[in-house]
Amino acid sequence: MNRKKRVVILGGGYGGIKTLETLADNESIEVTLIDKNRYHYLQTESYNLVALKSSLDDIIIPLDTLVKGIDKNFCFIQDEVVKVDTHTVTCKEGEYFFDYLIIAVGVKTLLPSIFRNEHLFEVKNLSNALHLKHSFEDTIVKHLKKEKTHTNIVVVGGGSSGVEIAAEMQNYLLKLNLAQEIQISLIADAFLGELDEDSRKKALQTLQNSGIRILQKMVQKVEGNNLYLEDELIAFDFGVVAIGLEASEFIKNLGFEKEKNFLKVDEYLRVDEHIFAIGDCVFLKDKRGETLPQTAQTAEQSGVIAAKNILRTIQQKPLIKANIKIYGLAIALGGKFAIATASFVKVDGILGYLGKKAIEQFYKIPLKLKS
Ligand SMILES: Cc1cc2nc3c(=O)[nH]c(=O)nc-3n(C[C@H](O)[C@H](O)[C@H](O)COP(=O)(O)OP(=O)(O)OC[C@H]3O[C@@H](n4cnc5c(N)ncnc54)[C@H](O)[C@@H]3O)c2cc1C
Repeated sequence: MNRKKRVVILGGGYGGIKTLETLADNESIEVTLIDKNRYHYLQTESYNLVALKSSLDDIIIPLDTLVKGIDKNFCFIQDEVVKVDTHTVTCKEGEYFFDYLIIAVGVKTLLPSIFRNEHLFEVKNLSNALHLKHSFEDTIVKHLKKEKTHTNIVVVGGGSSGVEIAAEMQNYLLKLNLAQEIQISLIADAFLGELDEDSRKKALQTLQNSGIRILQKMVQKVEGNNLYLEDELIAFDFGVVAIGLEASEFIKNLGFEKEKNFLKVDEYLRVDEHIFAIGDCVFLKDKRGETLPQTAQTAEQSGVIAAKNILRTIQQKPLIKANIKIYGLAIALGGKFAIATASFVKVDGILGYLGKKAIEQFYKIPLKLKS
């Protein structure tokens, strides 16, 4: 009798979990998920956590129960991978053999040295997101206790992450009638480049109407609690940095071909004959050769293709070419406002909000049930 093929997945994020789901209920394989953390982190909802709208339980799902809920024969190991060889991964606490490997370890926040400051936080990492949430709470309490008369919060980064966090914090301040005294400034050289001109204008107008200062400027330096722009100094209490992404040291050290430090894959998402790579850690392109943004939807689609291609390799069937698409975008703009765009539809305000919530719940509820 043929031995079952051993599939190892590195990383239980959006891509890794979709891969597991696609591989479930298959007699010919045994599957192990390895992640350095014990939880699946719903990064796409981190803005709710930071702005005190949700708790830890809303944005993490335990990986051990989730993996068993997807397929009771699958196995989860908490360990941090440091090295990949032809058929073995080396982690901090053990070595694991594989016939097929999927690398899905995501990325980290780009943090140039000027932003390495104890008062600035990022949200890709759960611990940092929690520090940020506590700083926000602490700042509000200090203000209410009159320990401060004027308070500044800075958000650096004009992409959807920065915008969503600034918008939700502002909404919270509005509810407490503190938005006049606690000023949020959103600083970037460009805003919401992922949206068309009309939607971008609408989104920025909504943010401005809510009282957020939009500053289209470059940060020159940050010293202690002082943030320097070309023509202005902002004395801030705490801040958020969401200016971009970069590959982790683990990915940078892998001996596979790269583009801008991210893994380069072939049309079947392979970096090697038996090794696939998916999600944020890959420089993904669409069928026309255009670079795809690093999003949960691209991570999930690439996970499905890689899983199918592993099964097809085992069955000696021709592999499927990746054809990853962006189906739409939904960006929260605070409270019950959001902007959602898809190929033929564009909605904003409460409809956009309902669209955004539906996408989040449609993803989260089945996983919570499985877990
Ligand atoms: C604030 C914010 C809002 C966002 N909003 C949206 C949105 O609305 N829509 C959207 O589509 N996308 C959104 N994104 C982007 C989305 O979260 C990412 O594109 C997605 O998480 C990528 O999935 P992934 O599986 O590649 O990586 P991740 O989800 O980051 O998962 C990587 C996993 O690998 C693990 N890992 C890392 N290194 C190692 C190691 N060495 N050993 C073992 N395990 C390791 C990590 O613990 C993690 O569990 C948002 C991101 C942020 C930060």
